[in-house]
Amino acid sequence: MDETYAIIGGGQAAGVAARTLRKEGFCGRLVLIGEEPELPYERPPLSKDFLTRDYDFARAGINPPAFYRDNAVEVMGGVRVERVDAAGRRLEWRGGGLAFDKLLVATGCRPRLLPPALGDTAGVLYLRSVADARRIKAALRPGCSVILIGGGFIGLELAASARALGCEVTVLEAATALLSRALPTGFGAFLQQVHAGHGVRIETAVRPRAIGREGGTSLVTCADGRRFEADLVIAGIGVLPNDDLAVAAGLGCDDGIMVDRRARTSAPHIWAAGDVTRFPVALQGRRVRMETWDNAQKQAAVAARNMLGRESTHDEVPWMWTDQYDTNVQILGFPSADCETFTRGRLEEGAFVLMGCRDGFLRYAVMVNSGRERRPLTSLIQAGLPIPAQSLADPAVPLRELAARQVA
Ligand SMILES: Cc1cc2nc3c(=O)[nH]c(=O)nc-3n(C[C@H](O)[C@H](O)[C@H](O)COP(=O)(O)OP(=O)(O)OC[C@H]3O[C@@H](n4cnc5c(N)ncnc54)[C@H](O)[C@@H]3O)c2cc1C
Repeated sequence: MDETYAIIGGGQAAGVAARTLRKEGFCGRLVLIGEEPELPYERPPLSKDFLTRDYDFARAGINPPAFYRDNAVEVMGGVRVERVDAAGRRLEWRGGGLAFDKLLVATGCRPRLLPPALGDTAGVLYLRSVADARRIKAALRPGCSVILIGGGFIGLELAASARALGCEVTVLEAATALLSRALPTGFGAFLQQVHAGHGVRIETAVRPRAIGREGGTSLVTCADGRRFEADLVIAGIGVLPNDDLAVAAGLGCDDGIMVDRRARTSAPHIWAAGDVTRFPVALQGRRVRMETWDNAQKQAAVAARNMLGRESTHDEVPWMWTDQYDTNVQILGFPSADCETFTRGRLEEGAFVLMGCRDGFLRYAVMVNSGRERRPLTSLIQAGLPIPAQSLADPAVPLRELAARQVA
């Protein structure tokens, strides 16, 4: 009898897992159940080209539509799974259910919402899905004013896109510097300058205390008494993992579904992948949750292989990128405040690499318009060998050479 594999979630990790399962020879029944009506798609364009250009959404598909038909993947779109019975190996949704042999949970994250205590938050927009992006695109008219609450990656990408569309943009960030939790402070200052150069007003150390609407205008009053007015308010204040199903099913969870390097959950027959997971990262020596395209891609493929009984592990140097105006930023590893930082290149020239070393080892790199250095820097971080800091910072020593020497 053929086995049934189920995938909950219809996003990037789900689409990659379905493809990998078929590619690696799974011939049984494969059912993908996703709450969104669309076939699995990539989200990065939603805050960038989707908003600013005449973007063909079909390009964002994880697999071409024909893949699902040709590979007998049963896609149930617009269906929210309500319950997982881990021991009985059964899923339930309103009006239906499915018995499975193996299950992958790939339910991603949802935006963190502003607390209702702030007042009239009903009109505030958030961005996660293509439906959200369509609403935002319709609202971003040239000349309209926008307040972005949250100066994280999504907020800043939205700020850049709104400026490209001719909107007047104010970013309200609660911390004293942009991206100060994720990146070295000098970098936040650099990015703030980039945005200021494009006419974005960035206010740091401000916390909204009340949100209201008066005659079609949104008013944000901050804890320090300042008031900001705009036609539109969008919030990008982080995300929460969609792990409620897993919690209710008794799987080990802690702000995300706990998995090992093979993407196994605490229940036999159940794996999890993508933004919803918390997994061990050797570089960090602890479990982390990563909300990145690269993690969803790789961890989903690892989970699929392990569902087929292979021995595949997920232990890569983390990588992510963001695009704002003509600035491409790529981050490798985990920036942390206890590292000594070195810069290769000059900030003023808009192309440089910021590197962080601890105990003589390269721990992270932030590449600004320097994506070509990703490969050698990944090798240098992965090698985990001591490296002379002066060569890292010296542009006369090609990183390619350093990496080759290190790995040899
Ligand atoms: C606007 C935006 C821009 C981004 N840009 C970048 C970028 O530039 N670089 C980068 O590295 N990363 C970026 N990311 C992050 C990247 O897109 C995510 O890490 C990736 O989408 C995670 O994939 P996933 O499959 O885990 O989750 P998702 O793609 O979110 O998919 C999860 C799916 O599960 C569904 N679901 C949830 N609960 C249920 C349920 N109970 N039943 C059925 N279905 C359910 C959800 O509706 C969703 O469709 C961006 C994300 C966003 C939102």
